Amino acid sequence: MAFCSRCGVEIDHLNAYDKHKSILSINSNGHAFYDLEIRDGRSQRTDRADDTMSYECPVCKQELTELANDEDKAVAFLKGAESKHGEK
Ligand SMILES: [Zn+2]
Repeated sequence: MAFCSRCGVEIDHLNAYDKHKSILSINSNGHAFYDLEIRDGRSQRTDRADDTMSYECPVCKQELTELANDEDKAVAFLKGAESKHGEK
């Protein structure tokens, strides 16, 4: 579980943007994946995205700037609850 640093709501995915909007989620195996939204309501699943990414909270729509362009950090953030100690 992860909590948005802006609005404090528990979130299980992040909106991710590069050229397109996608959703970054973690599956039950702890594996990160993106669902890339394509036109016509279709989506495509991919393991990694381009490394120039910005991430935003799906609830308050604010960009989590501390995660920008850092996929590893974004994944770690989503896995958040597993680490009980706060990381800097
Ligand atoms: Zn938020």
